[in-house]
Amino acid sequence: MEYRRLVVVLELALSVCACGGGSPPPSPTQPTPPTIVPPPPTPTPSTVTLTGTVIAANTGGGLYGATIRILDGVNEGRTATANPNGEYRLDNLQVGSANLSAAASGYQETRAGVDVNGTNKLDFTLQPVLADWPREVAAVLNRGLLVPPGLYLYWTLDTGVTGSGCPGGKTPGQYNTLLRRVEMYADWRKCFGGTYSEMLGWTTHEVCHAHQQRILLDAGLPDTNLSTWVETTEGMAFMAAGGRSSLPSNPPSGDPKEDFANICSAWYMRRDYLRQHDRAMYTFAQAWLPQ
Ligand SMILES: [Zn+2]
Repeated sequence: MEYRRLVVVLELALSVCACGGGSPPPSPTQPTPPTIVPPPPTPTPSTVTLTGTVIAANTGGGLYGATIRILDGVNEGRTATANPNGEYRLDNLQVGSANLSAAASGYQETRAGVDVNGTNKLDFTLQPVLADWPREVAAVLNRGLLVPPGLYLYWTLDTGVTGSGCPGGKTPGQYNTLLRRVEMYADWRKCFGGTYSEMLGWTTHEVCHAHQQRILLDAGLPDTNLSTWVETTEGMAFMAAGGRSSLPSNPPSGDPKEDFANICSAWYMRRDYLRQHDRAMYTFAQAWLPQ
């Protein structure tokens, strides 16, 4: 009984495999040609992006905070603000040509046109608004005080520094290492005693901070934090010599870079100007500073 079943199974298996014999192979069915599906058309993007960089002509670096504005066309009124590298980005724009402006305080507004198409970029280079240095400060610079290339003076009613001495709780000036400019309070007659001599003292103090940045630049060191100036050869020499100011009008501040700026300011001021206008500083300069 068992043997019989096995034979039947084998015959079935053979019959299944008996296709290599004389019987012709079944004609292959005609392959169905594949349906050619056309690729979907590249969708025309409904919106595009415009990017670019705003450069400060005096530093060659990006102009942080510059405002970029679209002046006309379908995207009129759109604005962007440049990041710390001076880069800006305007997203979700309609395709079309446009004129744009780039503006920043202390720089000349600059305009340019571009076809906004998602590919083109638009860069700006802004020239600083140059003010004349006070005559006495110009003399300091002409005497050879090393300062960063492109240094300039910017008069403003917002020095950005909260402190004291000027209306609105501002200080009379600061040095902006990123933009390499001395920022002075334009209404300086309302600051402290309001004297021209004081304004000059502040201005040259800030110019001396610019000098510290130049020293850092020449040393190949990061130059935006002036506190690191004490690590330069000049800073170390200053510290070795006592590292403090004993100007009558500027007692030691405890901050070497500030004490240096005070001494540097007196050092580079015209001595006959000090004699006439600032007896205390003149006396100090005569006693302690090289002619
Ligand atoms: Zn200072």
